[in-house]
Amino acid sequence: MTDATSTGAAEHDVIVVGGRCAGAATAMLLAAQGLDVLVLDRAALPSDCLSTHAIARGGVVQLARWGLLDAVIASGAPEIRTVSFHLGDGEVVERTVKDAAGVDVLLAPRRYVLDDILVSAAIDAGARFETEVSVNGVLTDEAGRVTGVTTRDRDGTVRERRSSFVVGADGVHSRIARAVGAGMVDERPSEGATHYAYVAGLDADGFEFHVGPDAFAGVFPTHDGECNVWVCCPADDAGIGADDRTGDFTALLQRVAPSLADRVGRARVTSAVRGAVRLPNHVRVAAGSGWALVGDASYHRDPITGHGITDAFRDADLLARRLGQALRGEVREDEAMAAYALERYRALAPIFDVTCQLAAYPPADEFVALQKRLSDLLEAEAAWLASLPPVTGPALVPA
Ligand SMILES: Cc1cc2nc3c(=O)[nH]c(=O)nc-3n(C[C@H](O)[C@H](O)[C@H](O)COP(=O)(O)OP(=O)(O)OC[C@H]3O[C@@H](n4cnc5c(N)ncnc54)[C@H](O)[C@@H]3O)c2cc1C
Repeated sequence: MTDATSTGAAEHDVIVVGGRCAGAATAMLLAAQGLDVLVLDRAALPSDCLSTHAIARGGVVQLARWGLLDAVIASGAPEIRTVSFHLGDGEVVERTVKDAAGVDVLLAPRRYVLDDILVSAAIDAGARFETEVSVNGVLTDEAGRVTGVTTRDRDGTVRERRSSFVVGADGVHSRIARAVGAGMVDERPSEGATHYAYVAGLDADGFEFHVGPDAFAGVFPTHDGECNVWVCCPADDAGIGADDRTGDFTALLQRVAPSLADRVGRARVTSAVRGAVRLPNHVRVAAGSGWALVGDASYHRDPITGHGITDAFRDADLLARRLGQALRGEVREDEAMAAYALERYRALAPIFDVTCQLAAYPPADEFVALQKRLSDLLEAEAAWLASLPPVTGPALVPA
């Protein structure tokens, strides 16, 4: 399956840069097709990363389709059965998570747990992982085709690693996207902020969303009896400085969702306040000669819709199917990548649009109408993902 190139023979079919929810899932689905897959990540895995952890129904569908949902639930991630909207005027709308697209539960697992389950599944499928290895750039041949990556190991050793194809799953500041010069397909203003803390002893067992003045807050129950309590608002309004982040966060929560702030006041904040401001809203070109991008490397949106994990899982599925076909010689690589780019863009565009509108914090009635539209889109997305055929290749055909 490997080709000689002008820069040397490929050692692997695919090198995946980044080994979290996009990279590990992509590696799992490629390795399951019998491809030789190497994953490189500069982090020590498993480890925590910035996230409020909620997985939309479509992401839960993906876990179920990949046979990993039971493992996530068995890890102790609370099974979320209710979702409540607190509309600011005292009105609360509570819904039971219905049985749809084959799942009847939502989840918000800690990332060091979720990512570890994905990494283990990828290793079980045959992928190899090397962690604490930084990728510095890409190798190309005379025609400009990507033929591998350059790396720096923990001890400073610089190496060239060759492959038939490189997948950038290296997050929002993707080195691979920059190295290949992946342009922007769509770019919108980025003025949002998301901050969160973990809280123990909070009286919450479902997902909660609180609509505040020009802001949005919520609760996602996660592992170890803790809840992730978060606030999204315009970056200029967050008011979270360096000196007293917990105090600033508590004051912000009190302004946005006073009833939730009072409950948090009776519980115990167990972590530092973490967050991010002005994260980009953009869609990059998805693929080129010898490379493709998945997850945040490919497309980034404000965290207000909690959709990044589901985006990563969708990309993994769409890319692994098309790339497997190309590497087996069933279709031309450029056609396979064009199909991936189109399928991915069609799938992401409506939720991207709503995300950007929500992150502009329109008046409350408009904000609530957008949330209803988002809910419909998430249900449609879950049904579509559930309808996808499994990613298959020769290695998956029963003997
Ligand atoms: C505050 C906040 C809250 C969020 N809340 C939610 C939520 O509730 N639900 C949700 O679905 N999404 C949420 N997201 C988004 C979600 O966390 C991301 O979309 C998701 O982590 C993307 O996964 P990924 O695998 O594409 O990238 P990442 O998780 O960023 O992983 C990229 C990996 O690539 C590695 N890497 C990067 N550069 C290199 C390099 N040069 N060499 C080697 N390795 C490299 C990194 O070490 C990392 O392990 C949130 C994001 C933020 C910032």
